[in-house]
Amino acid sequence: MDLNYSPDELAFRDEVRGWLRSNLPDDLRAKVEGYQELSKDDLLRWHKILAKKGWVAPDWPTEWGGTDWNVVQRYIWEEECGFAATPMVVPFGVRMCAPVLLRFGTDAQKKKFLPRIYHGEDFWCQGYSEPGSGSDLASLKTRAVRQGDGHYVVTGQKIWTTMAQHADWIFCLVRTDGTTGKRQDGISFLLIDMHTPGITVRPIVLLDGSKEVNEVFFDEVAVPVENLVHEEGKGWTVAKYLLGYERMGTGRIGASKRELAKLKELAGEQLKDGRPLMEDPRFRDRLTRVEVELMALEITNLRFLDQMRRSGRPPGADVSMLKIKGTEIQQAITELMMQAAGPLAQAFRPVDAMDFDHFTARLAPRYCNLRKATIYAGSNEIQRNIIAKATLGL
Ligand SMILES: Cc1cc2nc3c(=O)[nH]c(=O)nc-3n(C[C@H](O)[C@H](O)[C@H](O)COP(=O)(O)OP(=O)(O)OC[C@H]3O[C@@H](n4cnc5c(N)ncnc54)[C@H](O)[C@@H]3O)c2cc1C
Repeated sequence: MDLNYSPDELAFRDEVRGWLRSNLPDDLRAKVEGYQELSKDDLLRWHKILAKKGWVAPDWPTEWGGTDWNVVQRYIWEEECGFAATPMVVPFGVRMCAPVLLRFGTDAQKKKFLPRIYHGEDFWCQGYSEPGSGSDLASLKTRAVRQGDGHYVVTGQKIWTTMAQHADWIFCLVRTDGTTGKRQDGISFLLIDMHTPGITVRPIVLLDGSKEVNEVFFDEVAVPVENLVHEEGKGWTVAKYLLGYERMGTGRIGASKRELAKLKELAGEQLKDGRPLMEDPRFRDRLTRVEVELMALEITNLRFLDQMRRSGRPPGADVSMLKIKGTEIQQAITELMMQAAGPLAQAFRPVDAMDFDHFTARLAPRYCNLRKATIYAGSNEIQRNIIAKATLGL
């Protein structure tokens, strides 16, 4: 096993680093570093800069705009973006819907949707979860009834739909046949225009006051049959294919490294009993544990990449391990940040009369917001079940 980058890979890393330094707008970097909410315009601005450079969808085939980077180059790209504090490329179009269309879509669907996804012309969201159907996704009830005139009529509700308030399109799992013995059968994968009459989006306010997730209601929404992806009733195959892609992007190692560096800076300034918190043995112990776990995560990630580089084998259930560890580390960093910022970290927003900086004022909301990381993209308990079954054979 070779965990070191080759000279070519190092040269690639330097190229990426240099480009990010010159092309990432300062205001966007400052917002990401300061844990501020990014607007739709912010997200699309960065998306379009990447699209112009040809780097917005590295994983896609080159004929559709992919970069033809190998797995290691793609990993380097992800990590450098995290380290440089770029906004994320919203994954629902580029990383979820597009791979599905490339694998299962018709030529007409590819031609219609892929270029618009690439250039950030359509904003997508993901309609999988429903009330009572999250981990137990196959119990979903939103139904689509096919009419004679070439339409489905969709009725039901989705929940926790991230950024649905911005979305032009939603990809949805719907039940087209409620009579099958196996619940996974009879589910279909539909692309639905969010501007169609009968769709209502209602925000859910999260613990930190943010409104990033929503309920989406469908009241007899007409969807043309040409928006069906793959065969009717075979949506579960599509759904599982997509979930692998969703979990690939949850490690965020580069971003965690950047945040650890910031944490050390804070802990060097904050005094405890007249000495920097960084010198407190209990704090150092906690911080070091997180740092070691992050190093272990990175090495594990590189090990999977080495396997993929040598055998071309996709990572499979291993992705679950990266999701669990990556999100636990992200949460641990938010806890240590709160500790390092001292009593002022308790407040949700700056109070003019006090010695507050805006970074400190974002720490409590950030801490609350990041509780989500061990729930979304399949909760960490479910990821553990997957490892138990698929990797350990239990
Ligand atoms: C911030 C956020 C954004 C999200 N964005 C989207 C989105 O854009 N689109 C979308 O479709 N969904 C989205 N989700 C939904 C997410 O996928 C679900 O919340 C998740 O799958 C868990 O489902 P649930 O909420 O129904 O909880 P439940 O499935 O009811 O689980 C409740 C608890 O029980 C545990 N549990 C359940 N079953 C088992 C089991 N078999 N073994 C052990 N423990 C178990 C879970 O781990 C969890 O702790 C988002 C969620 C969050 C929090």
